[in-house]
Amino acid sequence: FEVVGAPVINDVKELKGAVLVFHDITDLKRVEEMRKDFVANVSHELKTPITSIRGFAETLLEDEMAEDEIKEQFLTIILKESTRLQSLVHDLLELSKIEKEEMKLSTKLIEVDEWLQSSLTLMEQQASNKSLQFIKEIKPNISFHGDPDRLQQVVLNLMYNAINYTAEEGSIFLRVDENDNEVIIEVEDTGIGIPEEARQRIFERFYRVDRARSRNTGGTGLGLAIVKHIVEVHQGTISVSSEMGKGSCFIVKIPKKW
Ligand code: ADP
Repeated sequence: FEVVGAPVINDVKELKGAVLVFHDITDLKRVEEMRKDFVANVSHELKTPITSIRGFAETLLEDEMAEDEIKEQFLTIILKESTRLQSLVHDLLELSKIEKEEMKLSTKLIEVDEWLQSSLTLMEQQASNKSLQFIKEIKPNISFHGDPDRLQQVVLNLMYNAINYTAEEGSIFLRVDENDNEVIIEVEDTGIGIPEEARQRIFERFYRVDRARSRNTGGTGLGLAIVKHIVEVHQGTISVSSEMGKGSCFIVKIPKKW
C-alpha cells in the first residue's frame, strides 16, 4: 500500500483529525518488478555472447602465432555467438512489435492447406537433417480467420522446439483439425519431455528448463513467449502435456471467428 496523509484542521486552526488515503499498488509493483526482471534478463542474455566474442577476438589478436586450427576454432565460436546475438535481438523486436501492435493484426481468411505449404517444406528439411520422422495429419479444406504470418510463426516455433528437443531417430507430429468453433493445431514430439513444475513457466520470457541445452540449440528462451502472445491476441489458448523421456504435445486452439 502507498499511504498519503493530511491533517484535518478546523476554522480556528485546531487539529481535528487526519485523512489517510491507502492506495493499493500491488499491481503497479508487480508490473514494475516484471519490468526490472525483464531488463535484467535481457542484459544478462546479451552480456554472455558479447563477453565471449570479445574474449576470443582479443586472444586471436594477442596470439599472432596461433595455429590455423585454433584460429578457425575461435572464429567459429565468434560466428556462433554473433548469430545468437542476432536471433536474440530479432526475437526481442518481434515480442515488442506483437505487444505494441496487438490491435493491428492483418487478419485474412486462411486456407490451411495452402497456408502450411511453405512451413511444411521447411520442416521436412529440418526434420530429415536430424533423421526425424515427420508425420502430418492435416484435415483437408479447413479455413478460418487470422493473421497468416503471425500464426505461421506459432507453428514454426513449436515445430522448431519439437525438432530441437527430440533426439535423432525420434518422431514429430503436426496435426490440424477443427470443430464447429475452433481450429486445433497440435505439435507433438517423442523428445526429452518437460518436467511438471516447468510446464506453466516455459511460456515466460527467458525461462528454460536447461539453459545450456537451449543455448546450444540456438534457442533464445523467447520462442514460447512469442507463441503464447500471438495465440492470445487471436483469442485462442495454448496448453501442453508431457511425459519425461517420452515426449511433449502442444495444443493450440484458435476460434474460427473472433
Ligand atoms: P528456447 O529458445 O530455449 O527453446 P522457448 O521459449 O521456445 O525457448 O522454450 C522454453 C523452454 O521450454 C526451452 O528452453 C525448453 O526447456 C522447453 N521446451 C520447449 N519446447 C519443448 C519441447 N518440445 N520439448 C522439451 N522441452 C521444450
